[in-house]
This record gives sequence, C-alpha cells and structure tokens, in this order.
Amino acid sequence: EQSADRKIYLNGQLVPKSQAVVSVFDHGFLYGDGIFEGIRIYDGVIFRLDEHLVRLYESAKSILLTIPLTFDEMADAIVETVRANHLQSGYIRVVVSRGEGDLGLDPRSCPRANVVVIADTVRLFPQELYDHGLRIVTVPTQRNSPAALNPQIKSLNYLNSVLVKMEAANSGVLEALTVNAQGYVCEGSGDNVFIVKRRKVYTPPIYLGALDGITRRAIMDVCEKLELPLSETPFTRHDVYVADECFLTGTAAEVIPVIEVDGREIGNGKPGPITQQLLKEFRKIVREQGRRV
Ligand code: PMP
Repeated sequence: EQSADRKIYLNGQLVPKSQAVVSVFDHGFLYGDGIFEGIRIYDGVIFRLDEHLVRLYESAKSILLTIPLTFDEMADAIVETVRANHLQSGYIRVVVSRGEGDLGLDPRSCPRANVVVIADTVRLFPQELYDHGLRIVTVPTQRNSPAALNPQIKSLNYLNSVLVKMEAANSGVLEALTVNAQGYVCEGSGDNVFIVKRRKVYTPPIYLGALDGITRRAIMDVCEKLELPLSETPFTRHDVYVADECFLTGTAAEVIPVIEVDGREIGNGKPGPITQQLLKEFRKIVREQGRRV
C-alpha cells in the first residue's frame, strides 16, 4: 500500500493519514511533552513488543503521564494498526503526547493524552554501510545529563539528538557519538555504541547518559549466547580510537560497523569480525522474539 493510503491509529480509531491530526495546543507540539517508541516488524513478528511497551510505560511513569490504555490494549492497538496496513515488515512509531491544554507549561491543563500509532514501511540503510562501515565523529554537544532530562526517558524532546545529528552532517558524516560532562562516551544521536578490544565487548553503562536500547539488550543476549565476554564499562574517546572494532545498535540501524572516528581508523579500517558475527546472529533472532500479527 502507498503511504498516502495509510491508516493511522488515533485515540481508539483508525483514520486516513489526512485525518490523523492533533491540536496545535497539544503540549507535545508546544513543549515536546510526551514520549514515544520505535519498533520493527520482521515478517509478521513485532520484535520484542513487550520490552518496547515496558519502556513506554516506564517513560510515562517517570514523567507522570497517564496513558489512557492498559498495556494489553496498547499492544492490541499496535497489532490492529499493523494489520489494517497489511504490513509484514516495517517500522512502527508509537507516540503518546501530553494532549491539548493551555499555553502554560503545567501539564495539569491537559486532561487527556493523545495516542498515535503509525505503521509504515521501513527506510532501510544502504547495504554499503553494512558492507564497508560508517565514518563518524564525536561532537561538542554533550548528551543530556541524567540529572536534567534522563536519556532513559524516550521523550518527545529530541532536540539534544537533533543537534548531534546536525553536527554530524556539518562534519560530512551520517552519525556522531556524544560524551557526557565527564568525557565518557554515551551513545549516538539515535543508537547505542559498543567497542571490541582483545575479543571483549564493551558498552557504556546507561546511567552515564544513554537510552536503554532494546537492540543493545538483544546484542548483549547474543554475546552471552556466543560466549563472548561483555561488560558495561565507562570508556572515553581515546578507548574508542584504540579499539579493535566499534559498532552502533538501534531499531532502525540494527548493527552498523564503524570504521573511523574523528579521523582515527578503527582496527584495520574495515568492519570487524565480531561486529559481523553479531549482526548475523541478530538478524537470525529478530523473527523469533516477539508478537506475531
Ligand atoms: N539511543 C537513542 C537516543 C535512541 O533514540 C535510540 C532509538 N532510536 C537508541 C539509542 C536505540 O534504541 P533501540 O535499540 O531501542 O532502538
């Protein structure tokens, strides 16, 4: 189906795209007050749907947002939206905004959250990236501090990531790494980061300032299955420069090899063997773990 014919779930109804509209007084629009999820569906299996929904409801709890659907109703709304759009593979975006209120910041003027589910085809990254790897940079904009806006909340306020993405583009690359105020590596604009050194896999602990990515967790599970030692350890840019391998993980990106950071070649400048093995194993499990539509 063409995207113009897409049916969008909006507050309990499936409506044509042209009718899927919310108020300009929605605090999601005015203040980025709300939360979201991005989920993949592979051959009729919604990958780790429950984990995504747990994260959504935890984000909601953290910002004192009442989602007007139970966990099971939300899961059903997502399945229904995927079915209505006849999608076997694609990308699902769930958005819960604070809802319509007055112009003040106080969310108490917003009586009901708006719930939106969009299911569409996925815009795949070019195969080139997986075959040859990505050149990235680190950027001056620091990751949001967990003490200010915790990156574990998948909030609609994505300006921090937008700035990072623009700084990447200004440097002529597609993605960038952030560090926190102490100089420890956090994550990319929309993905988690891993490095490999002497056959050990490392990823930063999320409390340094990163989203608890579902793909990150899946990769950690794959490491366990393959008996690759993995540790959540803080590391610096220097550690990335001298790593044997580096890769990024995310729902859209899956596993992307990184071959250069800030002009330093990583390893031999080619996608590393452990990165490639993890991508291969990851692509095997995505059709096994999740809810069938
Ligand atoms: N970090 C950020 C900032 C993200 O927005 C995302 C999701 N796009 C990720 C990491 C990866 O998380 P997941 O594997 O759950 O998609």
